[in-house]
Amino acid sequence: MSSPNQRIETKVVHAGEPRPRIQGSVCMPVFQSATFEYAGEGRYDDVRYLRINNTPNQLALHAKLAALEGSAAALVTASGMAAISTTLLTVLRGGDHLLAQNCLYGGTRDFLVGDFPRLALHVDFIDADKPASWQAQLRPTTRAIYVESMTNPLLEVCDLEAVVEFARSNGLVSIIDNTFASPVNYRPIEAGFDVCLHSATKYLNGHTDLVAGAISGPAELVERIRHRLNMLGGSLDPHAAFLLNRGLMTLALRVRYQNESALRIAQFLAAHPAVVRVNYAGLETHPRHARARRLFAGCGGVLSFELKRGAPGAEELCRRVRIPAVAPSLGGVHTLLTRPATTSHAGLTPAERQQLGISAGLLRLSVGIEATEDLLEDLAQALA
Ligand code: PLP
Repeated sequence: MSSPNQRIETKVVHAGEPRPRIQGSVCMPVFQSATFEYAGEGRYDDVRYLRINNTPNQLALHAKLAALEGSAAALVTASGMAAISTTLLTVLRGGDHLLAQNCLYGGTRDFLVGDFPRLALHVDFIDADKPASWQAQLRPTTRAIYVESMTNPLLEVCDLEAVVEFARSNGLVSIIDNTFASPVNYRPIEAGFDVCLHSATKYLNGHTDLVAGAISGPAELVERIRHRLNMLGGSLDPHAAFLLNRGLMTLALRVRYQNESALRIAQFLAAHPAVVRVNYAGLETHPRHARARRLFAGCGGVLSFELKRGAPGAEELCRRVRIPAVAPSLGGVHTLLTRPATTSHAGLTPAERQQLGISAGLLRLSVGIEATEDLLEDLAQALA
């Protein structure tokens, strides 16, 4: 059984699991059924059907995710983008205005810039590290403020405490994408955010074998988001839900290991003569190291860096590494190396990338759970 006082290592295994166990099954079985027998439900949102997000594998995940984030309710979705878009389309209505951090995951930024105008929604980007500048960007129609716990791919840590405070004093809904920290390193709801989102594709699942999303927040708002999700249809399939539940069980073990491994690799890269810059908040030289230490239990498995030889050097490194797969995505057991300019942020123009500080040669490394020594040896031979 799970209780709110338990540690996260216990909750990932036990929270949300059915009690009594179904047929004594220690693992939550997969209910691979699109529909369930009518049991007198009166409302459309109560009909038990996969798209309505209330079937056994989805409900088990809702309870587990709420326990991990310390939220009243949670919802699982078919992808991180489904979590982000459905939340924003619930919190905002035509004519509303959003304040969003200026360096966001490329897909999120594309949605805000590309799709908002067609929906009569408005966005302004803020320097999330300069709270004094936010008031001037506030409009009578501003409804929400949107940030990421660590930015992708530059690993900046904005003034998250000021975001919570600003939202409270101006009646805004504070929304955070917590993908890069995971609830092991940071729990935004406990820190005062209203809504916490994840690409569960990343650390939460951790095995790079499915796409999913998660939303946590107050019960009434999560229920409204569920209603919109029921209409928009971004619902998670039971088999993916089963795999996500299994992946979650090792979340704390994986992320703690990745925190330690990534820090050692960041230190190695920072001292390497071929490297000009390393972005990792766990490094004492990172401008927001003190803030990261205060807010986070660890800085996660992702770091980014630039080589003296720029883009040609980055391309060569991608060809020479033996352990990392050169692929987008992050947070899983496999170490992945990618160039954001050609993957996660390929949707931006070169000028937009330059303005955000994402150079053509920037490399992002998502450290997996392989032996740190093997990764260090591999990077050393590739950089030599
Ligand atoms: N948020 C962040 C920070 C991400 O890095 C990503 C994907 O890379 C997403 C959201 C989108 O998630 P998904 O690919 O699961 O839709």
